[in-house]
Amino acid sequence: MNDEMTSMERLMAVCHAEIPDRVPFILCSREFGLKHAGILYARCYEDPDLYVHSQIQLRKEFNLDSVWDIWCTPAVDEALGGRMIINEDDPPYIDSDPFLKKVSDIARLKPVNPQKDGRLPYLLDVVGRLKKAAGSDVPLLGWISQPFRTACMLRGQTYLYRDLLQNPKFAKELLDICYEALLTYGKALIDAGADVVATSNPVANMDCISRKHYQEFSHPYTKKLFGELKKYGAKAVLYHTCGCWDDRFDLVCDENVDIVHVDKANILELKEKYGHKVVTMGNVKTVATLLQGTPEQVREETLDCLQQGAPGGRFIISADCAVARDTSTENMRAMAEAVKQYGDYQRWTVA
Ligand SMILES: [Zn+2]
Repeated sequence: MNDEMTSMERLMAVCHAEIPDRVPFILCSREFGLKHAGILYARCYEDPDLYVHSQIQLRKEFNLDSVWDIWCTPAVDEALGGRMIINEDDPPYIDSDPFLKKVSDIARLKPVNPQKDGRLPYLLDVVGRLKKAAGSDVPLLGWISQPFRTACMLRGQTYLYRDLLQNPKFAKELLDICYEALLTYGKALIDAGADVVATSNPVANMDCISRKHYQEFSHPYTKKLFGELKKYGAKAVLYHTCGCWDDRFDLVCDENVDIVHVDKANILELKEKYGHKVVTMGNVKTVATLLQGTPEQVREETLDCLQQGAPGGRFIISADCAVARDTSTENMRAMAEAVKQYGDYQRWTVA
């Protein structure tokens, strides 16, 4: 099967409920891409073009429909004061020893300047270089945190959960500050070349907070943030629902989100309930299948996902989370070949 549309046309088509030439194929594969290119993560801090090169090569080799920026979501958390732990061969993360130890520490938070603070200038530079290398036909997905997640990173997860119960006023003050900082960075991210804003919020799934708390402390801030970023120029918003979100998918789909990237969720059920509002993206298992399975198992599960997701469109084939760094090239190839061979819509559409 030969491609007839560009990756950008294909992605925009599914977001607008149209049927493109084939099912888009998107994998969050920064770590795998770097290892595949023989590059240590930390070397990209000295030479951002190494990262750009790894993404461009990866897309070409596996016929992917996007490139991704280098980090996940901790950029603004660090710029606001969180301590970043940098790893030699893995993405960085925020230290669990929190910045906001006392409620009064909130006064230490200052508005964020994306051109100056933390590593934001570096990240925006990477996005700019990547966009230039990928061109306008290839969607660039840029990561951004959400107010609730950034608040957790600054305050400490368990302390913020306690604040929701004992000091909701403080929690909301903190969320407002996080919202402003993320909005400022999100706009800079779009200016630098991000087409799609990508986000995840693993600290707000069903294992972490109740639906009631999600509705009060996460949903309105995220909804407003993505509404503003879409007004500003984001072509789409992609929300990775890491973990179990079964009791709150309706809220996620109401947060100005275009693509819901699911983790071990039932594709058929989601498409039936929310297919009129969002595109479903997923969900070959990253660990059990892509990392630990055989090429034949990868192929079978990819076909299974296509069978569930492709009919009627509004579906992107993907893994269920970020592809593990040590995934084998054979398994990645098995998935790419299955998409190339069986990724057309006609095959799966029952007359
Ligand atoms: Zn995940």
